[in-house]
This record gives sequence, C-alpha cells and structure tokens, in this order.
Amino acid sequence: MTPPEEETDREDSGEMEFKMLQTIRLKAMAKINLGLDVLRRRPDGYHDVRMIMQTVNLYDDIEITKMEEPGIRIFTNLHFLPANENNLAYCAADLLMKEFSLQGGLQIKLDKHIPVAAGMAGGSSDGAAVLVGLNRMFSLGLSKEELAERGVLLGADVPYCIMRGTALSEGIGEILTPLPPMPDCQILIARPGIAVSTRFVYENLHAEAITDHPDIDGMIEALTAGDLYKVAAKMENVLERVTVPAYPEIGRLKELMREKGALNALMSGSGPTVFGLFDREETAQEACDAVMESGLAKQLFLRRPFQNHTRNYQNLE
Ligand code: ATP
Repeated sequence: MTPPEEETDREDSGEMEFKMLQTIRLKAMAKINLGLDVLRRRPDGYHDVRMIMQTVNLYDDIEITKMEEPGIRIFTNLHFLPANENNLAYCAADLLMKEFSLQGGLQIKLDKHIPVAAGMAGGSSDGAAVLVGLNRMFSLGLSKEELAERGVLLGADVPYCIMRGTALSEGIGEILTPLPPMPDCQILIARPGIAVSTRFVYENLHAEAITDHPDIDGMIEALTAGDLYKVAAKMENVLERVTVPAYPEIGRLKELMREKGALNALMSGSGPTVFGLFDREETAQEACDAVMESGLAKQLFLRRPFQNHTRNYQNLE
C-alpha cells in the first residue's frame, strides 16, 4: 500500500526561533462516495454503513517538522479552523507522541485545499497523513494495519484515508475491502455555500424505516466490470433523502451538472458537496464554467480519481 505521498529533507536554520531537526511533507487526499448506504443505527449512536469510497486528486499539503521545544504547534491557512487539540492533525500527533513517549516537539503546517465540513473527509485525511508521517519520521515501524487501528480512534474515515484508492467501507467505516480501481474520468466537485450538520442528517434519516437501499453490490459489479457508465448509473447516496429536500441548492447543482453533460451527479458523504462524473474533458470544462456562472458553488474543482495500485491487505477489521 502506498501511504500519503511523502518526501523528507533536513534543514539547519539558526534563524528559526526553535531548532528544526527534520521535515516531512505529505499530501492528504480528499474522498468522494460513489455510493452510500446506511444499514442501521447502533446502540452506541454510530450507524452501520456500506460506502463506496474513492480518493480524488484534491489534497491538503501537510508539512511536519521536528522541533527541540516540546509541544505540538498547528499552523493553518484557514483562520476558522482549530489550531489546538480539536484539530485532527493535532490529535493524531498527540496519540503517537504519548504512546511512544516521543521527545521534543512538532510543528505541523496545514495548507488546506479540501473543502471543510463538506463530506470529503478533509480532517480525517489530515489525521491519516500525520500518522503516516510520524511513523516514518520517528521510524516507529507500524504497519498500515497498525496505523489504521490507531486511526479509527480519531475518526471512522481515518483508516480509509490511510489506505486510499477505491474501497468498500463497512461497519462504522473501519472494515475496508479494496475494490478494482474506478475507471478514469473527469470529476467536477462543487461545494455550495451552505453548512449542513452531519448530526442533523443522521438524526433525520430514520435508517430502520428504509426499504429501498442504494445498490452497493451493483456498484461493486460496475467497478469490477471497469465500466464508467455502469458506475455512473449505480451512484446513489441515501443521505440525499434528507439533504435534498432540506437544501434545494444540492438538488439544483445535481440537475445543472446532469444538464451540462455529467453521466451522473451525487452528493458526497453527508454533504453539501456535489460531484459529477464526465467522460470527456471538454464537456467537464463547459459544465465547470456553467456551475461557476450559476453562483451555486462557493468552491469548484475539476479533478480525476486518484488510484492506489499497491494496497496489500484485505480489510482492517
Ligand atoms: P467527513 O467526510 O469525514 O464527514 P467532513 O468533510 O464532513 O468530513 P471535515 O472537513 O473533516 O468534515 O471537518 C469537520 C470539522 O472538523 C470542521 O468543522 C473542523 O472544525 C473540524 N476539524 C478538525 N481538524 C480539522 C482539519 N485538520 N481539517 C478540517 N477540519 C478539521
């Protein structure tokens, strides 16, 4: 399995306030859900899900530097994000520093590009990248499975963000099965300027009452066949049954992308981000222009699937 991309270098800088010992840089990638089903609410309040996860080539740049001064310092380009123990990058660093009694301190710079609170696992991916980065920097010798066991303590999507690629995610998200890679295509990602609370979505879903579930097995067959058109036809997210009536912008974005040539369009995670799949770059670019002109999107990206061809385990249960 290829972990979040990384590179190391050594720096000596007498000009820094604290002595920098070693730096590592990583790309924390975003995900979309090609399919999302909720099976039941569990007694512990979590939900059992069946999700088809796909990494996309949209990422946060993470830079971790060892410092002599103890403590974890977070710097981010987004002023509204917590730069303390509420940041998942901090939580990930704190977890490994405590478990392995790591000496000294860390400076973590997050250059965020993944839309925040948007259903794209941005925070989880940052946490995953920090776990992978520290494992390497401090030569902790943890396998990807061992990193994932720790990752799930930070968030249900963190194990997947360590694994990356195309995968079936079950349980609360910790049971992962690699799937054949999604066929290459153009993915238009549009984040409307509305906030959708994940809690509100799940509370209003009433999972037990759902009788017509998304065809997750059909999506797996479509991926196995390597057929982009079948993949598009099987896209469904059960959470849209709550969000589309409550937030009309989501439905309008989906309609607009389809009108402009998307093979299909869907909300990712608990939203509000909507993505559309395109088989032609030109059509995707025209749709991108149309979405921009419509004013429906606050953030807009045209990307391709990111594939991880070297995963080597069956699941992380
Ligand atoms: P998911 O798809 O896993 O539900 P999401 O895209 O809905 O994730 P995030 O972008 O991870 O949501 O952010 C959710 C909340 O987590 C934010 O409101 C933010 O305050 C908090 N958070 C903590 N650490 C981070 C981080 N490194 N990046 C983004 N948000 C973070």
